[in-house]
Amino acid sequence: MGKKFNELVPKSKSKFYNVRCPDCGNMQIIFSHASTSVHCFVCGKLLASPTGGEARIEAKKVGEFG
Ligand SMILES: [Zn+2]
Repeated sequence: MGKKFNELVPKSKSKFYNVRCPDCGNMQIIFSHASTSVHCFVCGKLLASPTGGEARIEAKKVGEFG
């Protein structure tokens, strides 16, 4: 084990996504590293699910910031 490990620093810069609900068109802000499922405020559709890292966005991203 004389190998030098490359220090893989995971890019965990958190940000916010602006998404549009595919079902009702509601625009909503989602934290990129949401640790719980995020549902549409209006119709309850699942918009993002937690993965342990960056959340999987299930809706259409229309922007990001942060
Ligand atoms: Zn909706």
